[in-house]
Order: sequence, then C-alpha cells, then structure tokens
Amino acid sequence: MALRKIFLLLSATALMAFHPGDGKKITVVIDAGHGGNDYGAMHEMLTEKEITAQICDKIKALKRNENIDLVFTRTDDQSMTLAERADFINQIKPDVVVSIHVNYNKNVTTSGFEIYTPKAHNANREKSVALATQLAGKLSENLNVKNRGIKEAPFFILNKSEAPAMVVELGFLSNPSDREYLTGDTGQEKIAQSVLDFIQGLQ
Ligand SMILES: [Zn+2]
Repeated sequence: MALRKIFLLLSATALMAFHPGDGKKITVVIDAGHGGNDYGAMHEMLTEKEITAQICDKIKALKRNENIDLVFTRTDDQSMTLAERADFINQIKPDVVVSIHVNYNKNVTTSGFEIYTPKAHNANREKSVALATQLAGKLSENLNVKNRGIKEAPFFILNKSEAPAMVVELGFLSNPSDREYLTGDTGQEKIAQSVLDFIQGLQ
C-alpha cells in the first residue's frame, strides 16, 4: 500500500508538472467507493465496487481538458480503508473531492440521486454544498432522474477531508430504472460526462 501511494503521488506530481495553456488548473480527487473485499451494495451479480470503478474509468476516458488533473484513490479492485482514502486526499490537496457510490433500499420504488456534504459547520461545508449543487444540476440535466437533494452526513471521508468534498449516491441499485443507467454503458457515460461538465465549470 505504501509503495502504491508513493507511485500515485509521483503520478499526480508528474501530471501537475505538464500544464501548458492559460486555463485555470483544477485538481480533483475522484474516489471510487468500496473495492477489494468490500463490495458495497449488491443486487444479484451486480456490485457497487464494480459499478463505481466502471464509472471512474469512463470519467478518465472522457476527460479532454489538459488543465484538469484527475487523481483517483483506487485504480483497480483493491481494498482501501476510509482512513487511507482521507490521507491520500489530504496529501494531494485537491480543489474538490468527488466520492462515487450507489445506493440501496429495501423499497424498490425508491429512486434518484443524492449528494452528501460534510456535517461539520465550517467554510469547507459551505463550499462543499455550493459545489454539490452544481454537480446535482449537471446530473439532473444529463440523466433526467430524480434529484433527492443535497444532504449532510458525518461520513468519515467528508469529516476528514481538508478539501471541499462530497459523496455522490448516484442512484439505487435496488430500483429497476436506476439500475439501468447505473449499469449500462450509456447511463455510465452520461454520469461520467456530468462529473466532467461539473469540473469544467470550476475553471
Ligand atoms: Zn457506497
């Protein structure tokens, strides 16, 4: 884990070094929720850890803007504790952290996306809420699904991040129509593009 961290840090530093152009440079940590032994939410053969990794791969593949640095907490199916994720974020010192998750509910009719921001009332929280509102706008625009709102939660990663941060619950794996956009290529691309449109808007 230590070696991997060093490698990721070096990669991030290398990326930061190559930035010609006049646009404002934005660094964003993208965190694919779960991984390794931690499967997250599950529905039949579908797992949250795989879905979040697939969406992060699409974000990486669709990025064109060279003034945007995306740094990923995990790049394969590895276990990563929340503390390791938070440490990684605080070493990178990004402009914003977007942690990608999918939801689950016993009630299969529950649907839509929601975004969690830090519960601690400080400047970071205000900034996180403002940014989460912008991302919610892009998701609503591109996905045409229910926006369940910007919420607050004492999630570890949100509490520990020194940068503005949000946990995006993109939809419910338990709901048939959410499941379609969460797991299909078209839906995942729309999600990825929404995240990139949001980041682009920060420049
Ligand atoms: Zn999750």
